[in-house]
Amino acid sequence: MESQSGRKTTDDVKAVVLRIERMSIFDGPGLRTVVFLKGCHLNCQWCSTPESQIIKPEKGFLQDRCRECGSCIENCKTGALSMIEGRVVTDHSLCSSCFECVDICPHDAHKSFGQEMTDSQVFDEISKDEVFFFHSGGGVTISGGECLCQPDFVISVLKKCRIRGIFTAIETSLSVSWEIIENVLPFIDNLYVDIKHLDTRMHKKFVGVNNKLILSNLEKLDRSELPFDLHIRIPLIPGVNDDDASLLALIPVMKSLKRLTDIEILPYHRLGVGTYAQLGKDYKFEGLQPPTEEYIAERIEFLSKQELTVPLRIAGGA
Ligand code: SF4
Ligand code: SF4
Repeated sequence: MESQSGRKTTDDVKAVVLRIERMSIFDGPGLRTVVFLKGCHLNCQWCSTPESQIIKPEKGFLQDRCRECGSCIENCKTGALSMIEGRVVTDHSLCSSCFECVDICPHDAHKSFGQEMTDSQVFDEISKDEVFFFHSGGGVTISGGECLCQPDFVISVLKKCRIRGIFTAIETSLSVSWEIIENVLPFIDNLYVDIKHLDTRMHKKFVGVNNKLILSNLEKLDRSELPFDLHIRIPLIPGVNDDDASLLALIPVMKSLKRLTDIEILPYHRLGVGTYAQLGKDYKFEGLQPPTEEYIAERIEFLSKQELTVPLRIAGGA
């Protein structure tokens, strides 16, 4: 079989899957089965899913569950684990993600983030929810991380869904080549695009890359004649993009999108902060507090006054 990138593949296409969530009421119409893939090209400083950033399975550690018995340290073949001042410490540069410590620990203090799965295995999981899709108008959403880091897998799963009549959606930052996006568009009903900031320097500062590729891809897909619905998602991050000027800069771009269906605002939250500690990573926005409901409502009202031509609403969080 020829892959979307021109590579020869076996029949099974594999990807590193972070998790599969069922019965989600976010990320598309109706009840959704959401497949989160690992890997991302961006490095958003507010990222709430740090376990999705690297495109390989990773090991996490929950300190409060550990009883310091030492079994995991004795069995770790790479020497990645040690006891320092009575606490188990992981040297992630030595960890091979074999997950033996996950199996060995009697207190579930070690955990795995992500596993390799084939397109058929993931589709089998999706199929279990078909009856709910049928009754709710839902379907499957592939998200991440950046799901288009693993485009052959995404296309293969979406094709299988299409054949079965399951509605499809993907969530993407568009920070990939146009060729990848062009290849996936024929297989989606709803496209969710995250736009973080329109100022190139601010984008680079807080997201790690500039936004030129993203905006160029957005323009191109708006010209597509394929019948998908385009939804824009804007994370509302205090001190990054919630000021009047940053919000106003969005308006002409949103108004220029001919096929835009709606805009969703995702207010900043701190739900993923604990995962940074589990992975031994620093959270760059440590002192940042989520906006109050009143503040979010005021920002929505500000945007609503700008004569947008599509519905604007609050959804989930960023
Ligand atoms: S096996 Fe579990 S409880 Fe024992 S030291 Fe390792 S993490 Fe702690
Ligand atoms: S996943 Fe494997 S290599 Fe990594 S700490 Fe656990 S036992 Fe050691």
